[in-house]
Amino acid sequence: MKKIGVLAIQGAVDEHIQMIESAGALAFKVKHSNDLAGLNGLVLPGGESTTMRKIMKRYDLMEPVKAFAKEGKAIFGTCAGLVLLSKEIEGGEESLGLIDATAVRNGFGRQKESFEAELTVEVFDDSPFEAVFIRAPYLIEPSDEVSVLATVENRIVAAKQANILVTAFHPELTNDNRLMKYFLEKMV
Ligand code: GLN
Repeated sequence: MKKIGVLAIQGAVDEHIQMIESAGALAFKVKHSNDLAGLNGLVLPGGESTTMRKIMKRYDLMEPVKAFAKEGKAIFGTCAGLVLLSKEIEGGEESLGLIDATAVRNGFGRQKESFEAELTVEVFDDSPFEAVFIRAPYLIEPSDEVSVLATVENRIVAAKQANILVTAFHPELTNDNRLMKYFLEKMV
């Protein structure tokens, strides 16, 4: 069985673990860089990207996570995870630089602090995907290497580049595990 880590600093860690298990893989919490050994993939959950970065730096996780991706292992970032994985963050904060696009934090503005939307996701030709957004970012300026998988109001909210998958929403907060299955079956 594939082994997937969940960065366990903040956010809906247990929900991600349940979703990974429901999609047919083994899930492990990652708190230190040596927890990455032996994993086939990694999930970066939502939370507050500023806090997550601070803690990742304190535990020396930034470089090991980059190296994990450079080895070709798959990473799935949701919400703040998308922000951290992007090449740049609008405003200039440091990021992991693993998906070739710029993240706009809290991009949907105040009136839309949280909302749900039925998305058409490029890789699922069947039913729409019910997506929960919480102070969500979106991506701008994707390079040609990036495949856009879903948009809301013309803003990019799901994308993929080689072994990196990102969503601005929280797939772990609903019961629809199709994105996790896609990640496990096609990317890990
Ligand atoms: N607004 C948060 C950030 O920019 C992300 C919110 C979330 O992960 N739900 O880091």
